[in-house]
Amino acid sequence: MSATPENQDSRSKQAEKITHHPEQYKVCEGCGSIVVARAVTCPSCHAYRFDAAPTRVIAQAQTLALRNPSSVLSSDLS
Ligand SMILES: [Zn+2]
Repeated sequence: MSATPENQDSRSKQAEKITHHPEQYKVCEGCGSIVVARAVTCPSCHAYRFDAAPTRVIAQAQTLALRNPSSVLSSDLS
């Protein structure tokens, strides 16, 4: 159990922000990362297929926040 509480808290806040503005994000079909809507390719896996459906974005944000995975959950990639 080496997860840092601060990081987890930050992820939760980010997820909350995403769920309030899902139209500003989309989900990478390649790795499941959430990226900003204006991204052309995924910063994580360089895929170019995305699902921009708000329901999908929200579900993915909640999943990532809960699971503490290795996938990127951030809009700080501009
Ligand atoms: Zn990806």
